Amino acid sequence: MNCTTLNILLVCGLSICLNSVPRFDSPAAADNTVATAPGGGKDANNVDATIRRLISAVDAERISKHVFYLAKDPLPYRKLNLTLPGHAKNTLDEADDYLAGRLEASGYRVEREGVQVQAFRRDTSKPKHAQYSAPKPEDSWYTAYNLYAEKKGRSHPDKIILVVAHKDSPSWIDSPGANDNAIGTAGVLEMARVLAEYTPEGTIRFLLCNEEHTPWTSKTAAQKAKARGDNIVAVFNLDGIGVKSAEQMAAGMKTNVTAYTKPEGKRLAELMGEVNARYSIGLEQRTTERPQPGDDDGSFVLAGYPAAVINIGSWPYGDPNYHAEGDIPERCDVKNAAMTVQATMAAVVTLDRGP
Ligand SMILES: [Zn+2]
Repeated sequence: MNCTTLNILLVCGLSICLNSVPRFDSPAAADNTVATAPGGGKDANNVDATIRRLISAVDAERISKHVFYLAKDPLPYRKLNLTLPGHAKNTLDEADDYLAGRLEASGYRVEREGVQVQAFRRDTSKPKHAQYSAPKPEDSWYTAYNLYAEKKGRSHPDKIILVVAHKDSPSWIDSPGANDNAIGTAGVLEMARVLAEYTPEGTIRFLLCNEEHTPWTSKTAAQKAKARGDNIVAVFNLDGIGVKSAEQMAAGMKTNVTAYTKPEGKRLAELMGEVNARYSIGLEQRTTERPQPGDDDGSFVLAGYPAAVINIGSWPYGDPNYHAEGDIPERCDVKNAAMTVQATMAAVVTLDRGP
């Protein structure tokens, strides 16, 4: 998550991609075929059963393994301006290879969209969580990639639901970025793996972008989607999922806040609450209105896609190690993150099966 409830404009980036079509039509296609009753009407009970089955497939242990891989060993960071000794690629490019490999293992075709970005400079006179500062024009430029994968819809492929997370770690400081945002990245990977078993009516698109370099690559993604005329009906940003204050952690709370900017986003936020209750996911779920567009969901709002929300563990963000060296995998609440993935996926599939 960035930096930014404060400094949105300072840090915006961009990038895009499309049409990554899974290589196979999943074997579970028959499974959700039963969700359509004879005569074509939706059978709510079968939709429910499909969603319950998908929810039960979410595996917290897989999420944990991804987070440790991306934020500790073998990759302590994910940034373009840091290459490990003896390695040919920088740590963000190495992370991209890992992420693409996991998506391909789930049967997706992955597309990469390059965007020119810079690392932030560091200003140690600012508070620790906000020490990023604008680069100078002469600072190095790098190609950062948006990674895209999708499940093409079988009945209305033009209707797109987007699930997004930023995958990079802070470029101005040596923070592993476990909670911000290896955990959301891992959540998207796990959702993609589970949804490989689901044949959607509309298209479900996954985007892994970059938000700790500048400009944000989600800006390019959103602007190019708009330029293509993509009909994105919902955007769910997973950033800092399950993250909360030390007190909330100690109390064992499992939290999610869905923050929206526009009325269209408010409807998605309310849906998160509905599915959390309907499927007994157990989150302490609440909604809040953002004062202005922000984070990677904000990139889509600004590009003309108002139905965009962020799922985040706390609002304001409660992590005492935000943007600091102590944002390590051991401090992630993976169980909470898995619950947030369940609820988000239930919302995605509910929207997909809806009118
Ligand atoms: Zn951040």
